[in-house]
Amino acid sequence: MYRTIGDVQKAVLSGESVLSIAQAYLKKIEENAHLNAFLEVFTESVIENAKLVDEKVKAGTAGPLAGVVVGIKDNICYKNHRVSASSKILEGFTSLYTSTVLQRLIDQDAIVIGRLNCDEFAMGSSNENSAFGSVENNWKANHVPGGSSGGSAVAASAQLCTITLGSDTGGSVRQPASWTGTYGLKPTYGRMSRYGLIAYASSFDQIGSFTNSAADAQLIYELSAGEDEMDATTSSREVKCERTDFPQKLKIGLISECVHHEGLDPEVREKLAELIQKLKDAGHEITEVSFPFMDYMVPTYYVLTTAEASSNLSRFDGVHFGYRSQEAKGVEQTYIKSRTEGFGPEVKRRIMTGTFVLSHGYYDAYYTQGQKVRRVLKNRTDEFFQQVDLLLLPTTPGTAFEKNAVKDPIQMYLQDIFTVHANLTGNPAISVPFGVHSNGLPFGIQLMADSFQEDLLFHGVKKLEELL
Ligand code: GLN
Repeated sequence: MYRTIGDVQKAVLSGESVLSIAQAYLKKIEENAHLNAFLEVFTESVIENAKLVDEKVKAGTAGPLAGVVVGIKDNICYKNHRVSASSKILEGFTSLYTSTVLQRLIDQDAIVIGRLNCDEFAMGSSNENSAFGSVENNWKANHVPGGSSGGSAVAASAQLCTITLGSDTGGSVRQPASWTGTYGLKPTYGRMSRYGLIAYASSFDQIGSFTNSAADAQLIYELSAGEDEMDATTSSREVKCERTDFPQKLKIGLISECVHHEGLDPEVREKLAELIQKLKDAGHEITEVSFPFMDYMVPTYYVLTTAEASSNLSRFDGVHFGYRSQEAKGVEQTYIKSRTEGFGPEVKRRIMTGTFVLSHGYYDAYYTQGQKVRRVLKNRTDEFFQQVDLLLLPTTPGTAFEKNAVKDPIQMYLQDIFTVHANLTGNPAISVPFGVHSNGLPFGIQLMADSFQEDLLFHGVKKLEELL
């Protein structure tokens, strides 16, 4: 099979047709149906588009992604194809347009193969909140892949797609990447257009990629990021990673509260200590920095994201989109019954939490306070990057757990302890495959850079990989 974009490009260069590549992927997807990674495979449009790209290849006009097969998280819109955010409430809904990020990949001749399972409205850390069943980790039976982009992680890891797209609001790309041995990139907030991404928490959401190499992560980033007139929060800064004068000896910051975190799995801790030693031996400068806010991160994240979610999800009312309760009589009942029947329990919990923190009397105590904490976190993080080039931290405290093993929502929320930081502050971060635990499951390591320094982030990954 084709592990990377480079493998696909080689196959196309050596005369393999895009159609046969696409068919090989379709076959592999079918053979791995038990993983429940795909909610739908777009067989018809795949075949049609593959033939069109083949014509371009013959004419010598094909783009760099000819033959590359992309899977999309089921919250990314692809015109004339269904999208559901893994929720019953979007039953029967078809996208009216294509997300900008996806369109840019299609413009380079990538083929969109299908939509991938995820936690409902991207709320979750294990993909167990999908209305269409959980996803199986391809590394170990009966284990979760992480979430919320669990289907995207597994599809990339099991090579059911060349690359996949997910969304990262609090770690939903990096955390499942860590648990499936893939690369998961969350760019700087404002790098990736959110046009055509179903909103969860708009000031946190970014589209990110799952790939089987760092070079692929960089290429997909370069081709899909950048200003978009359809999303006013996108930055007009140059995207291309053309800088070459990077420091060969990096200044790397370690957050003490992360590397010495009591919840860290001993094997992850040990492997991290080894890496730090190797980095020192290679002449990189390692500095420990203190970030005494770990206890505030997850709560702040949940106050602010639920507030935004309660507003964003008000549009799903049984009138505008998708599912409408058959039982309902009258407008008010249509809203109440459609939402009651259409949303799953975690989504309801968050809408209610969000409504509460925004309510008169609690707004200042929760929402305003959360915004203030977010500012403190951002300021302190900016200070770090005046001192160091990159921050190095675990992606996840441990490895994937068994299905149904974590029942307490707070326990589940703590899976994101090391990933929410980059979303609260908007910084770019990437999870890189780091090791395989004695339990047979993989785990990642995370690098974070100053805002809009994705090029330095990729440089850091290269340096890290020289040692891994
Ligand atoms: N697991 C986190 C949550 O449940 C992050 C989700 C995400 O990044 N979309 O909110």
